Amino acid sequence: MQRIAVLTSGGDGPGLNPCIRAVTRRAIKQGAEVYGVHWGYKGLLSGEITLLESRDVGGILGQGGTFLGTARCPEFADIQVRRKAIRTMNQHKINGLVVIGGNGSLTGALALHQMGFPAIGIPASIDNDIDGTDIAVGVDTTLNTIVDAIDRIKDTATSHQRAFLIEVMGRDCGYLALRSGLAGGAEMVLVPELEGPSLEKIADTVVDAYVAGKHHCILVIAEGWKPGTRAVADYLLNRTDLGFDVRVTVLGYVQRGGRPSVFDRVLASRMGALAADGLLNGETGKMTALRGRKLELFPLEEAVRQLRPLDTALVELADMLD
Ligand code: ADP
Repeated sequence: MQRIAVLTSGGDGPGLNPCIRAVTRRAIKQGAEVYGVHWGYKGLLSGEITLLESRDVGGILGQGGTFLGTARCPEFADIQVRRKAIRTMNQHKINGLVVIGGNGSLTGALALHQMGFPAIGIPASIDNDIDGTDIAVGVDTTLNTIVDAIDRIKDTATSHQRAFLIEVMGRDCGYLALRSGLAGGAEMVLVPELEGPSLEKIADTVVDAYVAGKHHCILVIAEGWKPGTRAVADYLLNRTDLGFDVRVTVLGYVQRGGRPSVFDRVLASRMGALAADGLLNGETGKMTALRGRKLELFPLEEAVRQLRPLDTALVELADMLD
């Protein structure tokens, strides 16, 4: 009998539970035994590995987070440590691994594959920075969480004629800021990939919005943009000519939680099933990827080579529609 394992690793986000559920149930239906590894790659070193039955993954489809837990395990970049992980899996007679996670986690899966241990990845990252797939698991839910927050902030901003700086996640990647800014009708979006306007120019945008008769001004700022949300806030709060009062909201970890959207549940279910099928059919070194209308297996080596670049066409569109 084939025995496979599944783990979630790296940054968390919505949609991980439906992935685990789909991998588990699909593999069981195909006659395999499935093991859940707790706390990402760390669990391969500590041996926190448990058998998953179909009922063990019941009731988690609509739950945020990951019931297996996730963790960073920097030492996994060391080949000796990975050898130990492979030994642990061999002891459990596990002959294939599904890794659900972001770029780092998928790099770990590729490293295991290159050492001869069969591994398949499922891209899960709220930043949508994984190359080779149109979208990763978790992105849709997170975007909807952010846009819901922007809509709510806009309500209160409009009531009081305020300008709001809304900081969203994205240390190196402006995807969430750009998409949510576009969908939320922000007057300005600031992303780490692009050098933003000067503080004076940002203030001009706020003044222009006021003069144009707008009742609010929304600036969406990715956390990794320099010089940062605080610098903009300090500058704007010292200006007395803006028209608007200025407020700051840092959305923070609320963006990582929550019930996965319909889109994420379906994507996670499809990707989980494909990953299980692939592994059981002898595929390795691949990642599930949505490419256009097709869900397919895509080489991990190509996927992790570079992060997905910012969609500059959307930057222009966001600028044009503000
Ligand atoms: P994410 O998967 O969300 O991008 P990280 O970049 O923190 O998050 O990576 C998660 C984990 O993946 C790391 O803690 C480590 O265990 C593993 N990993 C990252 N890079 C490598 C690498 N080059 N080789 C092996 N494992 C890696």
